[in-house]
Amino acid sequence: MRIAVVTGPGAVELREASAPSCGPRQVLVEVRGCGLCTLDRRLFSGEQPIYPVAAGHEPAGRVIELGEAVRDLPGAPALGDLVTVDMRTRCGICHACRRGRSAICLAPQGRPGPAGVISIAGGLADVIAVDLDHAWSIGDVPLEHAVMGEPVACVAHSLRRGGFLPGDRVAVVGGGFMGRLHMTMARAVGAVTVGVIDVSETRRAEAEAAGATWAATPEDARSVGGENDVVFVTAGAPGSLELALDLTAKGGSVALYGAFPDELSVGIHPNHMHHAETSIIGVHSHEPEDWRVAAGLIASGAISKDLDDLVTARYALSEVAEAFELAASTPVYRVIVGG
Ligand SMILES: [Zn+2]
Ligand SMILES: [Zn+2]
Repeated sequence: MRIAVVTGPGAVELREASAPSCGPRQVLVEVRGCGLCTLDRRLFSGEQPIYPVAAGHEPAGRVIELGEAVRDLPGAPALGDLVTVDMRTRCGICHACRRGRSAICLAPQGRPGPAGVISIAGGLADVIAVDLDHAWSIGDVPLEHAVMGEPVACVAHSLRRGGFLPGDRVAVVGGGFMGRLHMTMARAVGAVTVGVIDVSETRRAEAEAAGATWAATPEDARSVGGENDVVFVTAGAPGSLELALDLTAKGGSVALYGAFPDELSVGIHPNHMHHAETSIIGVHSHEPEDWRVAAGLIASGAISKDLDDLVTARYALSEVAEAFELAASTPVYRVIVGG
């Protein structure tokens, strides 16, 4: 089978590897598509120089083999099912996992992969072996929607960690792919208003066309956006946290979803937070219950139009180099590779 390997900055190639075997508590998945995410772009651009690396943590495909321990198990994926796949390592043993916080599992995410590469998920391949509890059947939806299982699970985690409740007023800082998914999911689960803040006029216009209640530049957001119960920061630029705090109502929370520059530090007013009971919450990756929400929400069709809007392009696995080139350029929402 083929597997895509990033060998250096700007260099990706397809290598031949032996197909994985199916463990007794695993399923084999024939990958039909895999999204290219921020981590993949950083590996390709050289910002995270880990080579040679098999990237791709957003795969979806069909179950082609079932481990013997999982045949006929109620709720388990069945042969032929379309599944969206959680590629994250959850050791189940570390302090974080044992506190129910497997999103921040302390076990290393990289591991030796096929063909002598470091595997950081390795979903850009023809076939992958997946632990049964990491494969989520998703019904009869378009492949592009199944591929978005991981980012949708990330947003489900963000809404949960951010303390979102139906009826809340929401603002999203950043109108890129993850910002738009926050907007979509907050609306789908009952936000009364959702505003989007972005420096790009195009992205503001696209967010409004997709149903944002309001859209504003960072400069105008304080006058346009008013007070919000939860503010999601998906673009960790200097000034984003301060802006988010200004947009947060008493009792509200700021969820820090996007990564910030390493060297950035921000002054806050602890007494304001004390009097207003404001929360600032870090958000990172996802946990199994977020996958249940994500797979169910995608299967329901409730966000299908929005997911369609966020597909920038689709490539065959043989065109993986072109796909990385496009994903590394901006602006894109999601580039999908596979099949
Ligand atoms: Zn991702
Ligand atoms: Zn762990």
